[in-house]
Amino acid sequence: MKKTLFIVILCILLCSCTPPEKAESVTVFAMDTVMTVTAYGKGAGQALINAEKELYRLDKLWSVTNPESEISKLNSRKSTTVSPDTAEVISIALKMSELTDGAFDISIYPCLKKWGFTDKNYRVPSESEIRESLKLCDYSQIAVSGNNVYLPEGCEIDLGGIAKGFAADRIYSILKQSGIENAIISLGGNVSVLDKKPDGSPWNIQIKNSEIILKIENKSVVTSGNYQRYFTEGGKTYHHIIDPKTGYPADTKLTSVTVIAESSTEADALSTALYVMGEKEALSFLKKNPQYDAVFLHEDNSVTTNNTALLGTK
Ligand code: AMP
Ligand code: MG
Repeated sequence: MKKTLFIVILCILLCSCTPPEKAESVTVFAMDTVMTVTAYGKGAGQALINAEKELYRLDKLWSVTNPESEISKLNSRKSTTVSPDTAEVISIALKMSELTDGAFDISIYPCLKKWGFTDKNYRVPSESEIRESLKLCDYSQIAVSGNNVYLPEGCEIDLGGIAKGFAADRIYSILKQSGIENAIISLGGNVSVLDKKPDGSPWNIQIKNSEIILKIENKSVVTSGNYQRYFTEGGKTYHHIIDPKTGYPADTKLTSVTVIAESSTEADALSTALYVMGEKEALSFLKKNPQYDAVFLHEDNSVTTNNTALLGTK
């Protein structure tokens, strides 16, 4: 009798121990970035196939180096009908430009081209080249009406500062709609997480070049850093985040800015914008916009934030 009872209890225990959720991953090279999406649970395989397709689709729509992309066509024709996704990302970009008083501005593209940041033919442009290219930089002249987008003469746009954020939000939705409960979407400096880790603990996201670990759930963490793209000429280093007021790489003594927000699209635009603003202006921005948090990594390796509750170390 005792033996039978023992076997029954053992069976109940074995059946009630669900095996740990298996992780499935896909790695994609799109938007000039190595991207990895990891999802847990039933349906992960198919959800990741859909995610991969979507990343390639958005890359094809927005690449400025592909003359057939919607953005290249818009840049050359100035007035075109675009897909709803393109109209939406441009609208959000314009909204973020207004919110950041032009620190984020997708019409910085003619200036970026002068620096060679788009085709990697890096060079330091002359002051007059910068001045001329800045005359074409003004987000307030861009109009979106339904799916029609209008750019004024000479104006060209580049979504490099916001595209990965939009893509991360899209992949989040695809995974959620597929019934995935836990996932981590890592698109270069853009990381979004679905819920918690399968073991119920928060996801740990380390800020590059620092000991800082952010513990997050259902949020996006986006870092803009001066180490992501740069070149050196005449002993000076020039990076890819341009201050639209000067046309030069933002000189704010920061190595990186990391923004934590619900929307990865907004966090992406903001990490670029707060880097341009510099810590002081960025902190006053964050006071007025408390739905966002940020961590600033300074050139002297010090770390500051508007929300100390975020900071933890290894
Ligand atoms: P991120 O890594 O998100 O900060 O984006 C940097 C990329 O955004 C650059 O490589 C450029 O393509 C573009 N960019 C640079 N400066 C700006 C700016 N002030 N506003 C909008 N986009 C920018
Ligand atoms: Mg950005």
